[in-house]
Amino acid sequence: MRRPVIAGNWKMFKTVEESEAFIDALAPLVEDSTHCDIVVAPPFTALSAVVKRIQGTRILASAQNCHWEKEGAFTGEVSCEMIAETGARYVIIGHSERRQYFGETNDTVNRKIGAALRVDLTPLVCIGESLSEREQGQTERVLETQLREGLAALTDLQFSHIIIAYEPVWAIGTGRTATPQIAAEAHRFIRGTLATFFSASLASETRILYGGSVKPDNIKGLMAQPEIDGALVGGASLKADSFASLVNF
Ligand code: PEP
Repeated sequence: MRRPVIAGNWKMFKTVEESEAFIDALAPLVEDSTHCDIVVAPPFTALSAVVKRIQGTRILASAQNCHWEKEGAFTGEVSCEMIAETGARYVIIGHSERRQYFGETNDTVNRKIGAALRVDLTPLVCIGESLSEREQGQTERVLETQLREGLAALTDLQFSHIIIAYEPVWAIGTGRTATPQIAAEAHRFIRGTLATFFSASLASETRILYGGSVKPDNIKGLMAQPEIDGALVGGASLKADSFASLVNF
């Protein structure tokens, strides 16, 4: 049985004060939500404050990115050791915005996964095709390459700690969500591919989230698909009541 995960990626939104106010508003709304893992990913500046504020709640915290080295002359970067020290439990790796604007590659995704696992952070690994790749019939090839290169050389044990997020780039922040059928089809392909890299039983236990314009009015249809194990949400995770309705889908 795969336990659902509903994760909110705040991107470059929310000051410390706004983040704390969000947690105070969200916590009572998800107090009884025992059916899924609830994760919020604030910007680095608010991560420690959020971790403090979620004590005693069912909410867990994630970073949005990391560096693969433990420390060093890497101006502006944050290591997994530093993230783990805050008490955050997850880290988003390979988000399409990192791939598109900040030079993230499958190779850096692979290194970051290794770094996260080194300190017991759960990597939330994002993959997904662009609109032109989908239109050219390249979706499966792109997903297979992202998985093969991003997860290269991981052992079964290492892989067992990873969560995958399928986020078609054309659906992120566009209001154009994939239909539950399109998402489920991609998830089936991803799970089948994982079964060729790792054991079939591990692949069947892997949680695969969908991301891309998930909103309170479309989450039910997505979550009704047995292949979809949760959601990674951007825009609709920024307001406590909207995120709570996603959690309580
Ligand atoms: C995301 O940033 O991972 C995302 C899916 O954004 P949105 O929900 O706004 O499309």
